[in-house]
Amino acid sequence: MKLVMKFGGTSVGTGENIRYVADLVTKYAKKENRVAVVVSALAGVTNNLIEVACQAKKSDEKRIQTFTAELLKKHTEAISTAITSKQIQKEVTQIIEKTIAELEKVLTGICYVGELTPKSKDYVVSFGERLSAPIVWGAIKDLKFETQCFTGKEAGIVTDSNFGEADPLMNFTTHLIRERLSPLLEKGVIPVVTGFIAANQDGIVTTVGRGGSDYTATILGVALEVDEVWIWTDVDGIMTTDPKIVPSARMLPQLSYQEAAEMAIFGAKAMHPRALGPVIKENIPVRIRSIFHPENPGTLITKKANAKVTEAVKAVAMIKDVAMLNVNGAGMVGAPGSYAKVFDVLGKNNINVMMISTAASEANISMIIKRGLLGRAISNLEIALLERGGIVSEVSAEDDVAVIAVMGANMKGTLGVASRIFSTVAKNGINIRMIAQGSSELNISFVVKEKDGIAVVRAIHEEFNLDKI
Ligand code: ADP
Ligand code: ASP
Ligand code: MG
Repeated sequence: MKLVMKFGGTSVGTGENIRYVADLVTKYAKKENRVAVVVSALAGVTNNLIEVACQAKKSDEKRIQTFTAELLKKHTEAISTAITSKQIQKEVTQIIEKTIAELEKVLTGICYVGELTPKSKDYVVSFGERLSAPIVWGAIKDLKFETQCFTGKEAGIVTDSNFGEADPLMNFTTHLIRERLSPLLEKGVIPVVTGFIAANQDGIVTTVGRGGSDYTATILGVALEVDEVWIWTDVDGIMTTDPKIVPSARMLPQLSYQEAAEMAIFGAKAMHPRALGPVIKENIPVRIRSIFHPENPGTLITKKANAKVTEAVKAVAMIKDVAMLNVNGAGMVGAPGSYAKVFDVLGKNNINVMMISTAASEANISMIIKRGLLGRAISNLEIALLERGGIVSEVSAEDDVAVIAVMGANMKGTLGVASRIFSTVAKNGINIRMIAQGSSELNISFVVKEKDGIAVVRAIHEEFNLDKI
């Protein structure tokens, strides 16, 4: 088989884990499979880099040096456990030292300029994967397999310039990846590619969104025309809900692309929301599986849903870090184009609307957006639409909310699902702030206060017996 295998931060948290990952990869490569590897930053490193980048604006050189010294320690420790050959250890250590010295210069630059743009932030966070991939490469080489290390840019992933949430220019990317990686793969060399990071057409570093190594894996999978993309992680597969919220959550052995995408968009962190885009067109199966139980097949995501599962509801998820934005104004009633004006302002400011609800009276429109974008959304709407005599009289927001999404392909046409969901929430004395149901009927989502989110997820999981699915 030809495979892309992706290992997330949870799988490469320590040197021991990296060694284990190298063992796993080579076990498959030995059996005449062709394997390309995608790797995330060591667990927690991306968060640390974001934190230090945001602080660098008002930081001093000493703090930056303390940070880079800790980062160097973490990675050199990983090298000493993941790799046994002294020669390879030395080779990888040199790469890591050089990369960290570059990071220190970048952070110092931000500190002096006192400004962090989306472009420079992407550059800083790219260092997480630039530091992890050489260690995985070294560990595979240590096991005497032929391997070659690439950044996303070197592998040929070219994106638009939407820093922080870039998307690949798929035709160009496919051409470059085929040219650069396919010949290696055919010879049995294992390419190790940094997840999450790529470059725009000018060669400037971009990232494809948090959790984006999954996306890198499917981009490579399509370009290399693999049989399957395997996303190795710390849970058995995609589950009926986050097992950290409901420990009895069950693994879903099979999902359609549409169902899995719906779950990813609505908070199932096990997969990046845009990751399925490339593989759907080419019909390449994706498998989410556990590094702790490699003998289990995990969740298989293909075109078809699992015909054996007849339950209407298959999963429930919660998205935190969102905010509800309300735009009110009697002037919107019966005024053609008034919604377009609202969305135009948000679109022009690069603010993605995740959920929308309006009343038939048309005097109000409520939207869910990422919490971090709230300030920008309010100020731009106020500037553009709150002028005297305009269509909008008030822009308000609630930033302590969470979206709960209840999903399943068989919800389509099943009567009474919504009433069961909402009476379960009501029985728990919890107030619903907003409701939306897409016309696909795969999903009902609603908004509650964030403090009630966990209780709602647990109650719905129980009401629909998801632990027995
Ligand atoms: P990785 O580092 O491998 O990319 P992530 O932390 O991004 O791992 O994703 C795996 C985590 O997603 C799991 O540990 C789990 O807590 C969380 N998660 C949330 N919802 C779900 C779900 N429905 N099914 C499986 N995992 C989920
Ligand atoms: N390291 C990146 C992140 O933490 C990408 C990933 O883990 O998939 O978001
Ligand atoms: Mg992830």
